[in-house]
Amino acid sequence: MLVEGAIVDLDGVRPGYVRFDGATVVEVGTLGTASRRPGERRVRGIVVPPPVNAHTHLGDASATVEPPATTVAEMVQPPDGFKFRLLRDTPPTRKVAAMRRALLRMRREGIAAAIDFREEGVPGVRRLREAARSSGVEVLALGRPLARPLDDAELTELLGEADGVGLSAARDEPAGTLERIAAACRTAGKRLALHASEAEREDPETYLRLQPDLLVHLACASVADLEQVKAAGTTVAVCARSNALFGRRPPLAELARLRIPTVLGTDNAMLHAPSIWRELEFDYVSSRLAAAPVSAEFLARAAFVEPWRWLGRSSFARIAPGTEARPIVLRLPADDPSYQLVTRATEHLIVRPGSRRSGGGPA
Ligand SMILES: [Zn+2]
Repeated sequence: MLVEGAIVDLDGVRPGYVRFDGATVVEVGTLGTASRRPGERRVRGIVVPPPVNAHTHLGDASATVEPPATTVAEMVQPPDGFKFRLLRDTPPTRKVAAMRRALLRMRREGIAAAIDFREEGVPGVRRLREAARSSGVEVLALGRPLARPLDDAELTELLGEADGVGLSAARDEPAGTLERIAAACRTAGKRLALHASEAEREDPETYLRLQPDLLVHLACASVADLEQVKAAGTTVAVCARSNALFGRRPPLAELARLRIPTVLGTDNAMLHAPSIWRELEFDYVSSRLAAAPVSAEFLARAAFVEPWRWLGRSSFARIAPGTEARPIVLRLPADDPSYQLVTRATEHLIVRPGSRRSGGGPA
């Protein structure tokens, strides 16, 4: 298959063509110079690395009714928030089935990987692994130890199963707990992520001292706080639709201005469909609504490039012959690719190289 139009990847945005053999990129070149091959399928569009949903809580995907209009704390705070009652009251098999449905939806929408905060300790991580098996979506599972005071055996077992730890928020934890979790993650070579300054501002010291790999939200962080995050080199995951439900928004314009590595997530599956396309459009539109516009280029990088870097898989975000990239193609005009990707793309426009199907079936 030959795609002529534009390329958006780790190296930026540019016009060009990409030739595929199956799903593999075999040739990349300047627009207008592709050699013609008889019988070859030709498509006009934009070639981009597959998006990553960089912050999910798939465990609560079993919710089927409108959640109550309430505060963040009443909604998602452990142990008795709406979400934790939902997790408690839902049988494990239903939770696994719901997580799997969410993952298959992500796969249909072109998402290749998800970074999930998985509650419910070691069994929670095991259920996520079960749900993700053969789903076509690679899941980075950030588990959560349950015992307080911390149980070293549980933490060790958790880090044996999970890719790291994803915590509620620093202030939800008793003194000393965070340091022990952070140290255990480092020793095990696993990741540490936590929510920060979501519903109210927290002193950056409370989360940066843990040297986390990923901070989620920072909706209430000041510019000075963000400067500290920048200095620490920490990546930030933002979830604009989730914040909006509670009357907040992520500081997208400041994150862009400070060039803080930023990734996008859809947050709780009980609140939002795990669609990165919806997230992208909402990021763009809501930043305009707030009179703090953010560029489509920044958002496109946050969806398609930065998460692959964070995952240590930059080669997945570079569209060139010989890389591991398995790009997707969107049938969209190629004159202003980032803008098209951010404001126009949906799964219906996806063409999957290597597949006879278009419109989002499994490749
Ligand atoms: Zn979250």
